[in-house]
Amino acid sequence: MTATHSTRMLIIGSGPAGLSAAIYGARAGMAPIVVQGIQPGGQLTITTDVENYPGFREVIQGPWLMEEMRAQAEHVGATMVWDMISEIDLSERPFRLKGDGGTVYVADTLIIATGAQAKWLGVEGEMELGGKGVSACATCDGFFYRGKKVAVIGGGNTAVEEALYLTNHSHDVTLIHRRDSLRAEKILQERLFAHPNIKVLWNQQVERFVGGEGNAGLVAIELKDTVTGAVSQLETDGGFVAIGHSPSTELFRGHLELDEDGYLIVEKGGTRTNVPGVFGCGDVADKVYRQAVTAAGMGCMAALDAERFLAEADFEARVTVDA
Ligand code: NDP
Repeated sequence: MTATHSTRMLIIGSGPAGLSAAIYGARAGMAPIVVQGIQPGGQLTITTDVENYPGFREVIQGPWLMEEMRAQAEHVGATMVWDMISEIDLSERPFRLKGDGGTVYVADTLIIATGAQAKWLGVEGEMELGGKGVSACATCDGFFYRGKKVAVIGGGNTAVEEALYLTNHSHDVTLIHRRDSLRAEKILQERLFAHPNIKVLWNQQVERFVGGEGNAGLVAIELKDTVTGAVSQLETDGGFVAIGHSPSTELFRGHLELDEDGYLIVEKGGTRTNVPGVFGCGDVADKVYRQAVTAAGMGCMAALDAERFLAEADFEARVTVDA
């Protein structure tokens, strides 16, 4: 027989957004259930050093931080389940969702915190040198390259913002782009071109990330000119891949409004989606900031929004019964 769980608040995703929503939801007496998904803890579980999450004087480890958040959520009354949601019905409340193994979840409110994944180039050395020179987040890791040479790969807003951000730490930043024009906004392009410490390499495709002897980490990026075919090497200490992110929203396509890049659309300054009772938070709904701390903040907002939504729905139900 398949199990059925009923809850006031179902949370999909267990990164900083989902777990912060769980902490707030549990403390509001909503006994939330968190469906942890394929990567419990989210993107931080594949990061090492975390130095920008407030509250810790020393560098902490991403997996440790997520383990603490999960334990905190459980401590205040959230329930964690190992499952993957594979079917959803948001046509009426309570919402009905189904997990991979057939477990049914009946939920008065739904908080979506399924996150996003950085896109990678898929070239030699990229995974092997991850955390040893290759990164997908300049805001997270740029600090570790103070006074060193760095390169950013990509031509969109993220790549240009990351290149500009890296000038806070490095006097030698190279932007590598596969075409001869950027797709980033004009104002960002102007700032980039005007910066004395940034140079742009046009029409260059990354062939591989080159590691040094022993455990030396990244030492160079091998490039191929897309026009002439010439192969060259750019010496660098850090390579930041900034070619976009994929939000985990496939499950919601056709059920909730998504933008042209697949991100969940939520109200400006809030977390409500186009379906009343469904809320979105963290990287799945935020393509601009994408930080653990902003995701956690948005998770808190989603729980507060869900709580208010239920209070209003309960009040309306009582008024209807009394009338
Ligand atoms: P984008 O999809 O806009 O840009 C990705 C870039 O990476 C493109 O220049 C693309 O090249 C390049 N690229 C993609 N695949 C490869 C590959 N395999 N090899 C080499 N290069 C590759 O992603 P962003 O993350 O920059 O932005 C995503 C969305 O978020 C956009 O809508 C953006 O406007 C928004 N955003 C807004 C910000 C803000 O408002 N401050 C900040 C950051 C993002 P090509 O151009 O040739 O296709």
